[in-house]
Amino acid sequence: MTVLRSYLGGEWVSGQGPGAPLLDPTTGATLAHASSVGLDLRAALEHARRVGGPTLRAMSFAERGAMLAKAAKAVHAQREELVALALANGGNTRGDAKFDLDGATGTMMHYAKLGGTMGDLGFAVEDEVAQLAPNPRYVGRHVRVPLVGVAVHINAFNFPAWGLMEKAAVAWLAGVPVLSKPATSTALVAQRIGELLAEVLPDGVFSLLIGGAGDLLDHVQLGDAVAFTGSSAVGAAIRAQVGARARVNVEADSLNAAVLGPDVADDSDAYELFVRETAREMTLKAGQKCTATRRIFVPADRIDDVGADLAECLDEVKAGAPDHAGVRLGPLATPQQHADVRAGIAQLATACSFVRGTGGRGALLGVDGDGGCFVEATLLRAPALDTPVVHALEVFGPVATLIPYDGSAAQAVRGVALGQGSLVASVYTNDRDFAREVVLGLAPYSGRVTLGDDRVAEHSPGPGTVMPAMVHGGPGRAGGGEELGGERGLAFYQQRTAIQGSKALLEKILA
Ligand code: NAP
Repeated sequence: MTVLRSYLGGEWVSGQGPGAPLLDPTTGATLAHASSVGLDLRAALEHARRVGGPTLRAMSFAERGAMLAKAAKAVHAQREELVALALANGGNTRGDAKFDLDGATGTMMHYAKLGGTMGDLGFAVEDEVAQLAPNPRYVGRHVRVPLVGVAVHINAFNFPAWGLMEKAAVAWLAGVPVLSKPATSTALVAQRIGELLAEVLPDGVFSLLIGGAGDLLDHVQLGDAVAFTGSSAVGAAIRAQVGARARVNVEADSLNAAVLGPDVADDSDAYELFVRETAREMTLKAGQKCTATRRIFVPADRIDDVGADLAECLDEVKAGAPDHAGVRLGPLATPQQHADVRAGIAQLATACSFVRGTGGRGALLGVDGDGGCFVEATLLRAPALDTPVVHALEVFGPVATLIPYDGSAAQAVRGVALGQGSLVASVYTNDRDFAREVVLGLAPYSGRVTLGDDRVAEHSPGPGTVMPAMVHGGPGRAGGGEELGGERGLAFYQQRTAIQGSKALLEKILA
C-alpha cells in the first residue's frame, strides 16, 4: 500500500504509523495512506524562511513570473495522469477533474503573465509621490515589500489542484515561499503535483505537508501568512490558534444565491442561461464547490414552472461511475461527505418540500451494487422567503433550494442577505433598474456579483468559476477573506510601508 510522503526541508519524508486511508469514493477501495506523525514542522518552516525566502526576494517580479510559467507547464504536462488520480481519489468526472486542474494551471499562468508586466523590481511602489511639508523636497510614498516568512496554505478537499496552485501562484509572485497542506482525504492529486513542482522549483520555495496539520501552526511567527480554505468551524479555530502572531485569511462556507429577475421571459436567452448555469452549479463536482449556488430566488408566481424547468435540466445529467461514458455527476468525495450531505438534506426537508430527487442514490450508470458515496441531484422548495434553515445550513453536495420572493429588488436583496455573507451571487435580468438596485444592494453581502442577461448568455463562464483577475472571498460566514483579484491578491503576502524622506533619496532607493 502506498504511503504518501511529504516534501519538507527539501526532502521527501514519511510520517510514522499507518496513517489515514485515502479512498476511492466510487468503490470504497483504499488507495493510499497518509501520516504526518513525527514530522519536524518547525524545521520545515525554518528551512523555507532561511532558504526559500532569500531566493525569491532576490528575484524580480518578471523572474518570479517566469518561474510560475515553468511550474504551470510542468503540471500541465502531466494532465492526463492527474485526471486519472482525481477520478480515483476524488470521485471526479473527467469534466470535474479538468475544471480543477485547468483552473490550477490557468490561474498560475495568469500570474506568470502578470509578473511579466510588473518589471524588474521585487517590491511594489504604490501611488504618486505625496508632498508632506511646505518644502517640496520632503515627500512620502508607500511600498509593498515581500513578507520575510512562509505562506502557510491549508486547503479543502474539493479542489486539491486549484487550491494548491492558485494560492501558491500569488504568494510566489509576491516573493514568499509556500508550505502547502492539502486536505488529507483527496491528497493524491496534490501529492503528485507536489512531486512535479519540487522538480522545477528552487530549494526552499515549496514545501508540502501530507496528512494532519499536527503542531504546524504552533510554529507560525511574525512574517508568516496563513491562508485557509475550509469549514467555518476550522477557520475560526485556526484564527484563534494563530492569534496576533501572523496574518490569517479565511475562505469558508457560503450560501451562494441566484436571483431570477421578474422581467426574464421564459423564452429568453437570459432564462436559458439561468436554468443552465443553476443546474450546472448543482452538479459540477457533485455540488462540492464553495461557489456553488445553494439558494435560488424566484418570483413566487413562477416558482412551479421554474422548478419544473430546472428538474428537466437536472434529469438530463447522467449520474454514476465517473469513468463511465457520459456521466457528469459522480459520487461525493468521501463517506463523511456522503453522511453529512444526506443529513443536511434531511434537515432542509424538515421545512422544505422536494421538487426533484429526495437525497437518495438516484439512477446510476456503471455502478454495481449499492456501495459508493452517491447522492442524486436534489432540488427543494422553501415555503417562504423567511425559512431559517435554508439561509443557515450549507449542504455541500448536489443540492439547492428554490425560494419564493415578491419580485422586488428590495426583497431579493433582503433574502440573499439572510445568508449572512456569501462568496458569489448571480442575478439574471435584462432590466437595468432592477440590476442596479440588486447589484448595489447585494454588494455589501457578497464577494462577487455576476450578471446574466441576453447579451452575455453565450459568454458567461458561470458564477461558480473563479477568475484570477477578480477577487475571490466573501464577508461574514464566507470567512471575511480575499484572494486573487490580479495584483490585489499579492498584498496579503506583502507589508505595506510608508516611506518618508527627501525626494531625491526616495527616487534613488525606490527605483
Ligand atoms: P475542513 O474540514 O475545514 O478542512 C479544511 C482543511 O483544514 C483540511 O486541510 C484539514 O486537514 C485542515 N484542518 C482541519 N482541522 C485543522 C486544524 N485544527 N488545524 C489546521 N488545519 C486543520 O473543510 P473540508 O471539509 O476540507 O472542506 C469543505 C468546506 O470548505 C466547505 O464548508 C466549503 O464551503 C469550504 N470551502 C470554501 C472555499 C472557499 O474558497 N471559500 C473553497 C472550498 C471549500 P485534514 O484534511 O488533514 O483534516
